[in-house]
Amino acid sequence: MKGIKGDTFAGHTVKPGDIAQVDLKVSETVTHQPSRIPVTLVRGREDGPTLFVTGAIHGDEINGVAIVRRVLDALEPDALRGNLIGVPVVNRFGFGNQDRYLPDRRDLNRFFPGDRSGSMASRIADHLFRKVVQISDAGIDLHTAATGQSNLCHIRGDADDAVVKELMKAFGTPILVNHNGPRGSLRRAATESAVPTILFEAGEPSRFQHHVIEIGYEGVLRVMRHLGMLDRRFPKPAFQTIVRRSEWVRVDHGGLLDLTVEPGDLVQAKQRIGVIHDPFGRHVDEIHATRSGVVLSTATVPLSFPGNAVVHIGYLHKTLQRARRYVREDGDLGHVNWIKATRRRKARKAKGTRKAVAGKTGAAVPQEAPKAKKAAGAKKRATKRTTTRRSTPSAGKAAKPRTPRGPEGAGKEDA
Ligand SMILES: [Zn+2]
Repeated sequence: MKGIKGDTFAGHTVKPGDIAQVDLKVSETVTHQPSRIPVTLVRGREDGPTLFVTGAIHGDEINGVAIVRRVLDALEPDALRGNLIGVPVVNRFGFGNQDRYLPDRRDLNRFFPGDRSGSMASRIADHLFRKVVQISDAGIDLHTAATGQSNLCHIRGDADDAVVKELMKAFGTPILVNHNGPRGSLRRAATESAVPTILFEAGEPSRFQHHVIEIGYEGVLRVMRHLGMLDRRFPKPAFQTIVRRSEWVRVDHGGLLDLTVEPGDLVQAKQRIGVIHDPFGRHVDEIHATRSGVVLSTATVPLSFPGNAVVHIGYLHKTLQRARRYVREDGDLGHVNWIKATRRRKARKAKGTRKAVAGKTGAAVPQEAPKAKKAAGAKKRATKRTTTRRSTPSAGKAAKPRTPRGPEGAGKEDA
């Protein structure tokens, strides 16, 4: 049985309707202080599934940190079924040093499910796995490209596992990549131990990118809706396809790299996708697409050594024509146009509501306002926060009245 047993999480009492912020011990410093990571548990007033969302397992991949924060700010226990466990910074050591790795240069995402008597990485992995992953019914792990690369916003997971495949589709991005993950990765270890887990791979390391945060935030809420944790409804994605094979295009010569494609572009087999010049501007070589498909990642550093992987192409076969049509019709495979359109729709709707309220006279509107205020007050009183660490802006935001259905409520339900 998954979930919070005996109203206890990491040594804290957390009752239905509570939000708990705990510092979870995962290691110790050389001066013998405990090393802890921040974990927030939002416990819905009603029973339901438990979902974990993790960021910065690779310490410099920080878009996920902002996504977790955004999701936590948006949730109200009264409108939630089940539990959301947000772990914004798993690798706090790498995060502090703006580094992918742990201090011993190990990649934490190769040591799951962990080992209590193993290396530093194994022991940290073990803490997270036992205390967070194994009490969950599903998980989302948030990543970005490695240093020197940029990724299309897409989802990765084991699409041959029916439950994982549904989670991948629920997240809503157009491109879903079938890959169960390297041995020791969180998503693979979790899925293998019956906690179906997907990975959001998007953008660049060491920076906050608003479109990535927006897409990731909405994707997490969509998965929560799919799991029955929220009542909010979302429009069905206009296009989705599963990429089953992909390959990095490598260069054969050293020089200065000038790529003509970016993540999300569709390419045709043998199409020229870049050139290499020497420092005097003399032409050295051309780079061509190996197959037709979608660009999943590109190098962002314009320096090339023989053997450098510079463009990652996800092969598309049967869905290539549909993908082209989708892009032509103002879609884009990076999901950015779609998110912008959603934002515009929300803004238009909010403007319309404001106008309607301003235009109305009589008792209808004044009656609504105190009701909402009263409901918010009741919510605030009922939501016991077990620690005082939650920042004031978040607490303030959480106290605003929220309706379980977003402005997209008029759209079609998710698939
Ligand atoms: Zn990563």
